[in-house]
Amino acid sequence: MSDMPWTDPAAELRADGPAVLEWAARYLAEVGERPVLSPVAPGWVRAQLPAHPPAAAEGWDAILADLDRVVVPGTAHWQSPGWYAYFQSNSSAAAVLAEALITTFGVQGMLWHTGPACTEVETLVLDWLAELLDLPSAFRSDGPGGGVIQDSASSSTLVAVLAARDRARRAGARLDDLVAYTSIDAHSSVEKGLRVAGLLSEQLRPVPVDADRALRPVALASMVEEDLAAGKVPFLAVATVGTTSTHGMDPLGAIGELARAHGMWFHVDAAHAGAAALVPELRWIHDGLDRADSYVMDPHKWLFTAMDCSALFVRDAAPLVDALSITPEYLRNTASGSGEVVDYRDWQVPLGRRFRALKLWAVIRRFGAEGLRTAVAGHVALAQGLAARLADDPRFELPLPTPLNLVCLAHVGGDEATEALLVALNATGRVAVSHTRIDGRYLLRLSIGQTRTTRETVDELWSLIDEHAPAA
Ligand SMILES: *Cc1c(COP(=O)(O)O)cnc(C)c1O
Repeated sequence: MSDMPWTDPAAELRADGPAVLEWAARYLAEVGERPVLSPVAPGWVRAQLPAHPPAAAEGWDAILADLDRVVVPGTAHWQSPGWYAYFQSNSSAAAVLAEALITTFGVQGMLWHTGPACTEVETLVLDWLAELLDLPSAFRSDGPGGGVIQDSASSSTLVAVLAARDRARRAGARLDDLVAYTSIDAHSSVEKGLRVAGLLSEQLRPVPVDADRALRPVALASMVEEDLAAGKVPFLAVATVGTTSTHGMDPLGAIGELARAHGMWFHVDAAHAGAAALVPELRWIHDGLDRADSYVMDPHKWLFTAMDCSALFVRDAAPLVDALSITPEYLRNTASGSGEVVDYRDWQVPLGRRFRALKLWAVIRRFGAEGLRTAVAGHVALAQGLAARLADDPRFELPLPTPLNLVCLAHVGGDEATEALLVALNATGRVAVSHTRIDGRYLLRLSIGQTRTTRETVDELWSLIDEHAPAA
């Protein structure tokens, strides 16, 4: 063997690729039998591994052996069909294979020029996604707007905040006077985005919600009036389609109207729930979205691409580019600025970017529109069935609606009984579930949407709940 084997990556791929892929296949075939949450104590993983890097090259057999010995027991198995915690982080065979190809190219697609296919496949596949979700035509790339892939919904929201902030400042507002609005149930990424953008947490106004946890537009309107009277500058309203805690659905139309009336940027966060719009009967979740300036949904949650792949759509890219474009001499080239190409580095915070679009492209092609729709509609149907079963059982209460695939329940015995049920379910090792607190009340959250979740696995979840929940 050559003493510089890295100069011949093809040889290593041919020699070791099949064994690594077989390892991946075996992991996925057997993952449903493992305890879903890792039982290891803090520090255990590191203590199993050598403290110092190897001096000489090691083989893949040694690396795979450490995966079996240390990494597998030290992993929470998000790809287990028993994953009902938080939201999903769904992978798929298409995503696994496409990730390997992304790294095979190893493209750094900061400019069109440094990766024409990386750029153009991204523009195309986001138009596909907009079509699949039936998004407003303003989000397609044939106008001044379009889509871009970011690493996370947090980054997508940050970029929208930066565009909104810059637009307001260019119009003459002082940074200290800016105020933004979002519901008390909005994701923490909204506040974080504002803080990164140089605002204080107090400049984000938490708007109250109604009994179904939807933002109350009447409350928003009066808060805006109060701020205007105090000389503040309302510059941004963020609505959520499917809040993280409970899948609360903010009324986009009414919020969008207020935003427009007051010249605010209107950003819509549908990180998890947006995928439901694949299903025509569920497209009501986007009613009023045509008023939005920007919209984010995460294919890496429910749409089988695995971390990381977040889709941000903007009505007009100009405010983004105005906020984020800086061109030093070493990045100048003839294509950029010609008006013929997009340089996506101007649509994000980092300069560098990987070929994430390849993964979304592969997933959409391998599932087909029908496959994606069937999978997501199936998850929603399973969740609705489970919600009905729970609602019929005198031991449980569903204090909130279940619009899609997130079921929130309480044991009628109170917070202690609900929390004990969560602990018992997770201790079985068969499932992972998580919780939230709404108005001080402890609720169990069941997110039904793992790539591999089926009627059988949800029946097992129900049996475990039935077995471990004390009588009313
Ligand atoms: C999960 C979630 C986020 C954050 O998503 P990341 O991609 O992890 O940053 C933001 N908003 C909502 C509503 C979410 O559910």
